[in-house]
Amino acid sequence: MLAPFTAGWQSMDVHPLVIEKSEGCYVYDIDGKKYLDSLAGLWCTALGGSEPRLVAAAARQLNTLPFYHSFWNRTTKPALDLAKELLELFTASKMSKVFFTNSGSEANDSQVKLVWYYNNALGRPNKKKFIAREKSYHGSTLISASLSGLPALHQKFDLPSPFVLHTDCPHFWRYHLPGETEEEFSTRLANNLENLIIKEGPETIAAFIAEPVMGAGGVIPPPATYFEKIQAVVKKYDILFIADEVICAFGRLGTMFGSDKYGIKPDLVTLAKALSSAYVPIGAVLMSPEIYDVIHTQSNKLGIFSHGFTYSGHPVACAVALEALKIYKERNILEQVNSIAPKFQEGVKAFADSPIIGEIRGTGLILGIDFTDNKSPSDTFPPEWGVAAYFGAQCQKNGMLVRVSGDSIMMSPPFIITPQEVDEVLSLASTFQLREERSRNS
Ligand code: PLP
Repeated sequence: MLAPFTAGWQSMDVHPLVIEKSEGCYVYDIDGKKYLDSLAGLWCTALGGSEPRLVAAAARQLNTLPFYHSFWNRTTKPALDLAKELLELFTASKMSKVFFTNSGSEANDSQVKLVWYYNNALGRPNKKKFIAREKSYHGSTLISASLSGLPALHQKFDLPSPFVLHTDCPHFWRYHLPGETEEEFSTRLANNLENLIIKEGPETIAAFIAEPVMGAGGVIPPPATYFEKIQAVVKKYDILFIADEVICAFGRLGTMFGSDKYGIKPDLVTLAKALSSAYVPIGAVLMSPEIYDVIHTQSNKLGIFSHGFTYSGHPVACAVALEALKIYKERNILEQVNSIAPKFQEGVKAFADSPIIGEIRGTGLILGIDFTDNKSPSDTFPPEWGVAAYFGAQCQKNGMLVRVSGDSIMMSPPFIITPQEVDEVLSLASTFQLREERSRNS
């Protein structure tokens, strides 16, 4: 069936796989075929597809107060409770206020406006530029797409905006120099960042934004000492640090936040996805007391922070998110992720000897596989072979959904995945290592 609408990241002329039902880590299409959803939807259904407590929380809230806004000093109890909970949960640095959105993209757009307002309030309106990283993904709205470092988001859209700059992607395997250690690579990238800041003028750079582990860019964990060195540079020039935790938060990496894992002490944090286990759309910005205090005390002079969405702090979304956070705590989701992650990581990484696999990398329950010839990042297969796309299609045929992007396949299963389901992932993914599969495709 040709889809009568167009959706994300696809040609307009498609015969979509129509998903009808979900159950734990599995989804079913309209013909009843079952698939292991190894990407948890879009890195987001952390509690799987059939958690009755989330459904009940939504129903309770729908029956009590299906909607009220959070404008003009009015709000709802679920929004207040959720904000309080998030501020307690994030401990990597002190956060004092939450701003709710409907998505990660909106949250990152809101970050930019907050930072501009903050610098205007401090009387430095020219401190306006943002530095993001090549291959990062921060969303699809005009500003969040500008922040993203993926050319497909820029080409044909007149992006990135002139106030966005991009620095190196920290993918060690792909970009290190011969003989360079991870630490030396991190030092070089931090020096490059510092040179960029000096070239542009530190007084013009407002903020640096980074995902703790890059997701859509290929699942790229940071090399050793990377964030330590990057943060030192950012701090030196009075530049704010925004941690985009949209994928990494709530246990994906085996810690409550990616910032905890890598010693990141952000001034601002972006959340979405697993915040509600994706059952309802919700995103959030957390801001430090320093930022909030400036915004608060200067708002008499500058005027109120005129920004917000009808559905900011939607009571149903907040009620579901509150329940998700409660479940993460009660079921000790971190222990769950940390107990299953080694089986998943080591199991898939055992395929790395294959001559068509260049690198398998990941941590916790997120993983990326790069297909190349001769183990070399520069020996890419001809794009017309569509190697990763071929294996992705094979997986779908055999009953597993993965994410394909360029030469990479990515996986980020629900946090609730069982050892038996990991065995199934490994069995279905084992075709990735077969060279004859590739030649059959070519
Ligand atoms: N930031 C990161 C790190 C993401 O991975 C995504 C989406 O995948 C976004 C932001 C955008 O979030 P949304 O799709 O909810 O707008």
